[in-house]
Amino acid sequence: MSQKRDYYDVLGVAKNASEAEIKKAYRKMALKYHPDKNPGDKEAEEKFKEAAEAYEVLSDDQKRSRYDQFGHAGVNGNAGFGGGMNMDDIFSQFGDIFGGAFGGSFGGSRSSGPRRVKGTNLRVKIKMSLEEIAEGVRKKIKVNKLVNADNVTFKTCTTCNGTGRITRVSQTFLGAMQTQSACHVCHGAGKMIDKKPADADENGLVRKEEIIELDIPAGVEDGMQLSVTGKGNAGPFNGVPGDLIVVIEEIPHPELRREGENVHCDVFINFADAVLGTQVEVPGITSKAKIKIEPGTQSGKVLRLRGKGIPNIQGYGTGDQYVHINIWTPSKISKEEKELLEKLQNSENFKPRNDGSEKGFFQRMKDMFQ
Ligand SMILES: [Zn+2]
Repeated sequence: MSQKRDYYDVLGVAKNASEAEIKKAYRKMALKYHPDKNPGDKEAEEKFKEAAEAYEVLSDDQKRSRYDQFGHAGVNGNAGFGGGMNMDDIFSQFGDIFGGAFGGSFGGSRSSGPRRVKGTNLRVKIKMSLEEIAEGVRKKIKVNKLVNADNVTFKTCTTCNGTGRITRVSQTFLGAMQTQSACHVCHGAGKMIDKKPADADENGLVRKEEIIELDIPAGVEDGMQLSVTGKGNAGPFNGVPGDLIVVIEEIPHPELRREGENVHCDVFINFADAVLGTQVEVPGITSKAKIKIEPGTQSGKVLRLRGKGIPNIQGYGTGDQYVHINIWTPSKISKEEKELLEKLQNSENFKPRNDGSEKGFFQRMKDMFQ
């Protein structure tokens, strides 16, 4: 797994950079490292791709906020996830970046002529147990995605004559104005279907089941989206595939409650054990643990099991498990039990003190959040 650079660093902008600043920074990088300017220079090409990837994320509000929250894992995961962008993706961004100014001369025919149409994104939900989330997991998932049908032949789009663009001339008070837009028939591909099998749709695509293997990093949470570049639906007319968006669904644990990177559980002990001390078994994410209850343990005491929580998704340490001790109060007792308790009821040592020598719930909460 290669360590990706921070996208803001890549573009050399501040974390709170505006949309315009990001665009400007990317334009500068793209010009500097453009393959036409640096033929055969591998390092320039890598820089060019790195900048394009950073721009792709930071220029999209949704992706940017996911990135701000979860880092690289939020937008393309790690390990087996997404290997950046291909050149066609990058050049298809250029329309927005350079507008008409560079269109013709810069980026060659790719930005002015027909373009490869991008397929739609494919969304899948993945259910994960807390154990899988804590350890990270390789999942095989079955997707039903659009792929290019066999035996499809193309012909030149008759609407745009293969240019992928339609030029409109309109009269304004400043004179004739020319505007160009992507052809609405071929979506800019310049091609249309000539012959296709009966089961293929109007873009020459058919649905097919495919097994995809994904490495889900440890530390993901419910609702988080990971996107895998190029694993979505095929692009029409042999275009660029869309992305696979993996939505994480966390299966609630029967005994543990997750709160960010920490997990909490309740343990009940009886009154005699609280007074005399005991050992109890507590549930854990991967295995049960035995913990010692000291004699004289107060109800509501919280024990921390360090490092028994969920790893941070960016790799910054692991959360803890908090064990909340509760005293079990029986609601049904026998005559003998009642007699025993009545003997203790007014005994001097059994009188609760409210003198601050023990911490109750509120004091604990105060300590925890200070
Ligand atoms: Zn067309």
